[in-house]
Amino acid sequence: MAADTLKAGPATGLRAGIVGAGIAGASCAGTLAAAGWDVEIFDEARGAGGRLSTLHTQGGWATLGTPFISAKREPFRSQLRDWVRHGWVAPVRGKVWQGRATVSWAQAQLQNQFRPAVEPSQLVEKLLGDARLHTGSRVTALRPRSLVFENGEVRDGYDCVICSVPAAQAISMLDALPLLRERLDAVRYRPIWSFLMRWEGGPAVDVIKFDDHLLNLAARQTSGGPDLWAVHSSHEFAETYLEASEMEASNRAASALMGLLGLPWPVEIEASHLWRHARPNTKVGGFWVSDRENRVALIGDGIAGVGVERAWESGVRLAQALVQAREELLL
Ligand SMILES: Cc1cc2nc3c(=O)[nH]c(=O)nc-3n(C[C@H](O)[C@H](O)[C@H](O)COP(=O)(O)OP(=O)(O)OC[C@H]3O[C@@H](n4cnc5c(N)ncnc54)[C@H](O)[C@@H]3O)c2cc1C
Repeated sequence: MAADTLKAGPATGLRAGIVGAGIAGASCAGTLAAAGWDVEIFDEARGAGGRLSTLHTQGGWATLGTPFISAKREPFRSQLRDWVRHGWVAPVRGKVWQGRATVSWAQAQLQNQFRPAVEPSQLVEKLLGDARLHTGSRVTALRPRSLVFENGEVRDGYDCVICSVPAAQAISMLDALPLLRERLDAVRYRPIWSFLMRWEGGPAVDVIKFDDHLLNLAARQTSGGPDLWAVHSSHEFAETYLEASEMEASNRAASALMGLLGLPWPVEIEASHLWRHARPNTKVGGFWVSDRENRVALIGDGIAGVGVERAWESGVRLAQALVQAREELLL
């Protein structure tokens, strides 16, 4: 959906309560709000973004989550074109290092990838349109037409309640909705440790793809100085260091990195984050699942499949279906 079209339509009197302001929740919220729904979206974090959140550094901003965005098909292609037109994302350029040599983007399987040119969380915020975002709001349970918060507060009277948190986290919220909980049983997520590191020397490139069992990828950051990199571990590394302290995991990753790149000076570690639910290794299928009778639906990459494109589309498709079903909802 183009940013220009995210203006609220005539009010419908319908209300949606959405849990999770990652790209799936935000695309759903903005699309519903544009169709005249009254939308409230709640996130436990300090801002929107989820796995597209921004890390503020001394010299600017960086991202420890998704480094790249790509679009395989419509409608996300036109969303991406719209972001490019606004200057919010740009095609990835520069050189890639893989194994021990500089390779083409095609050889590294990174062609047609884009990077946020603005803080990634801002991309997600822009999708929200007229939806009202409540941050620092942790939801503990979903019930028919209502949400229960960590502080005991209950908000009810929604025409639709939508959950867009990683499926593995949604399970604990669904005791009152066993049909939905069962659908998520098979979805498992794999973790990734991400680090913000600074080093001198090493290959003069913009992206490094490691052929290694510990590290997966390093992406030079566009803000915060020329030597700042986001380094992503492999899933195997993160599973081994799942309960490790940040210091232990960072030191292990830094020593692996120095060995792989033959760096002469120690690596500086500026930040680290463990994404316990980084990527689902399976999906429920379709774009959303719903319990129509109780007016609750689930979206996100655990339902639609991994990646920004699938998560975005799950939110948009559910919102479009709800808008189309308006007559039915009003019965
Ligand atoms: C390190 C890493 C690298 C990646 N690389 C790529 C890549 O190159 N390309 C790509 O396409 N994809 C990549 N991905 C995957 C991509 O980021 C995700 O598929 C996508 O962002 C998922 O979006 P989402 O909205 O479904 O979930 P999320 O972004 O996880 O959003 C869920 C939101 O729910 C909130 N939340 C959770 N629990 C609660 C609660 N109880 N109450 C209130 N709020 C709650 C969270 O704070 C979060 O904001 C990567 C992911 C990671 C972690």
